[in-house]
Amino acid sequence: MSDDLSKSQRIEQIAVEIAICQRCHLHESRKNPVPGAGDYNARLVIVGEGPGAWEDEQGKPFVGRSGKLLDQIIEKHGVLKRSEIFITNVVKCRPPGNRTPMPEEIKMCKDHLIAQLNTIRPRAILCLGSTAAQTLSGQTSPLTRLRGRNLSGLKPAIVATYHPSYGLRMGEPVVKLMESDFALACSLALGA
Ligand code: SF4
Repeated sequence: MSDDLSKSQRIEQIAVEIAICQRCHLHESRKNPVPGAGDYNARLVIVGEGPGAWEDEQGKPFVGRSGKLLDQIIEKHGVLKRSEIFITNVVKCRPPGNRTPMPEEIKMCKDHLIAQLNTIRPRAILCLGSTAAQTLSGQTSPLTRLRGRNLSGLKPAIVATYHPSYGLRMGEPVVKLMESDFALACSLALGA
C-alpha cells in the first residue's frame, strides 16, 4: 500500500467517523455531516467555523455565498487552485440558525479536525474567523489582533483572517485584508 493510498484511506475513515458521530447535540439537527473536501496532500488547509445551510444540504464545505467569495479570493491570487487545498470547519455539523458553535461542541469535535490535520500534515493553515483562529492557535485575542501574521512558531504555520460571511457584510476593505492574509498563508505553505 502506498503512503498516498493509506493517507486517502485515513481521511475517508475520519469522514466515516464524522458521519456516525453523536458526540454533541449538533448531530440531531444536521441534514448531512460536512467532513471537508479537497486535496489529501494539500500544503494549505483552510478551516472555517461550521457548515451553513447550503453546506448542510450538500455535505460539502463552503458551497454557499461565503464559498463563492472564498473562491474569488483563491482565483484572484492564482497560485493555488481550490482543488489543491483541503477545506474544512472546526465543527462538522451545522449549528442551528448558523449560530457560533458552543465551547463544548468545539471541544467534542476538535479530535476530528486534529486527526485530519495530523493525516494531511499541511505546511500552513488559514483560519477563517475567530472561532477557527482561537481554536487552532490557542490564543484568545480578537481577530483584529490575530490576523495578518504567523501565529505558530512551529510547523504548520497558522494564519488567521476574517470569515467570508464577515467579508460579504463589510465589503471591499475587509475583502482586501482577506486577500492579503490568504497570500501570506500561501507563501508560508509553498515557501522553502
Ligand atoms: S459537530 Fe462534531 S462532535 Fe458534534 S456530532 Fe457533529 S461530528 Fe460529532
